Amino acid sequence: MELKLFNTLGRKLEILKPEDGKTLRFYCCGPTVYGPAHIGNFRTFVIQDLCRRVVESVGYKTLHVRNVTDVDDKTIRQAVDSGKSLRRVTDHWGKRFENDCQKLNLLSPHQAPSAVGHIAEQIGLIKKLIAKDLAYVATNGSVYFRISNYKDYGKLSGKKGKGLQKNADRRLSDADEYDKESWQDFVLWKHKKPEDGDNYWESPWGLGRPGWHIECSAMAIKYLGESFDMHSGGIDLCFPHHENEIAQSEGVTGKPFARHWFHVDHLRVEGKKMSKSIGNLFLIDDIESWGFHPMELRYVLLSGHYRQTFNFTREALSAARKVLQRFASLYQQFDCEAVSQEILRPKSWGSFAGVQKAFLDDLNVSKAFGELHTIAAKITPKIKNKSLSIEEGRDLQVGLFLTFDTLGINLKPFYNNRSDLKNTPTPPEIERLAERRWEAKKNREWELADTLRTEIMQSGWIVKDHKAGFDLSKNDYLNK
Ligand code: AMP
Ligand code: ZN
Repeated sequence: MELKLFNTLGRKLEILKPEDGKTLRFYCCGPTVYGPAHIGNFRTFVIQDLCRRVVESVGYKTLHVRNVTDVDDKTIRQAVDSGKSLRRVTDHWGKRFENDCQKLNLLSPHQAPSAVGHIAEQIGLIKKLIAKDLAYVATNGSVYFRISNYKDYGKLSGKKGKGLQKNADRRLSDADEYDKESWQDFVLWKHKKPEDGDNYWESPWGLGRPGWHIECSAMAIKYLGESFDMHSGGIDLCFPHHENEIAQSEGVTGKPFARHWFHVDHLRVEGKKMSKSIGNLFLIDDIESWGFHPMELRYVLLSGHYRQTFNFTREALSAARKVLQRFASLYQQFDCEAVSQEILRPKSWGSFAGVQKAFLDDLNVSKAFGELHTIAAKITPKIKNKSLSIEEGRDLQVGLFLTFDTLGINLKPFYNNRSDLKNTPTPPEIERLAERRWEAKKNREWELADTLRTEIMQSGWIVKDHKAGFDLSKNDYLNK
């Protein structure tokens, strides 16, 4: 049971698993906090979240680091133009980003370091690069990476030596972002310029600020070590950002940086690239203002394969509602939420094995949904004529829980409000079973507690725990 995932480095499918056999250590390039993140950014973050959940679903732990870019050309321009401090601007957009992540049910990274918080580490790396003759101070006072002294440059994105010779005499520029055709010795430390206002730091090369690429090398090495399992970002980051990260990091350590490179292709809107000028740069707020739930957006963002460009449409959101309502109704009837309270793990996917297999097959979500629809079609007539066996009920309960837990889709917002079920009086034998289960839990007899919960469920009742005790409510699927 392992995840097969495409590795940009080497361009083939490979098993993604922790080198130490326990914890998958991975780094995701995080948001640049100068404005709200759009649904394209969230395609990448949601798919990275899926990847983490799939790895955790097979029993591994994860150590997830996602940085915050809070100093670069864009953040500084935003601060200077608005007359606010850089900190005020980036704090504001950083909080907004976290809020949006919560709406989309993204697991919080274990570490979320910021570039401004790691200036010393970045300076440390640049010093080592200069000592190894892999970087130099130019006459303009900025420090650049010397590509001609680093033989592996291009191994991720496929750029090779020829282009290097041709472009070696290019004028140096301090741009953080540029395309493959205009590559060059890239900037590591930018000397202070008047337009940067008071956003500068001291360094051995005078006042200035770090270039964009060095922050990720510094923070990845600090939190994950010199070599780690996986590195990820949107496809636009493959070149130059990730290529430069490899050059900086491996240049300093002499060790392989990330073993696996996971890139998510871009989202477009109604066939067009998102842009402010077209007015199609949509935010979570926009989706909500059209009357949709962020979980519907999450479903849509997951539905296309990550290695293909995704075409976002409003129709897809409407279709999402139908699918989620269908599964929410099953999820609610079979009290799948209760599985999260059970202690025994990992659980078998039972008749949902095909769903798990699809997730493990290069994160094939649409195949997983195909399997789910097949299961639902098989089970629905049995539910209607009440011929579902207890075992089938339990299999469905666990399978649906595992599936939606791995997808990170919360189905609660799509539940029906069944007030008629809430008001049914509890029979004494059910009360007794529930009391026994509560005792078993207090005595940490988890297996017995789970068995009693199953018995309660088999009798057509749902037990829900809270801090001080439990609640019982009627479940209508067996109609006992
Ligand atoms: P940024 O905040 O611009 O640094 O981007 C955050 C993440 O979103 C990065 O991993 C980008 O590669 C990714 N990204 C940017 N635009 C898109 C898009 N249209 N579709 C998918 N991912 C994107
Ligand atoms: Zn990065």
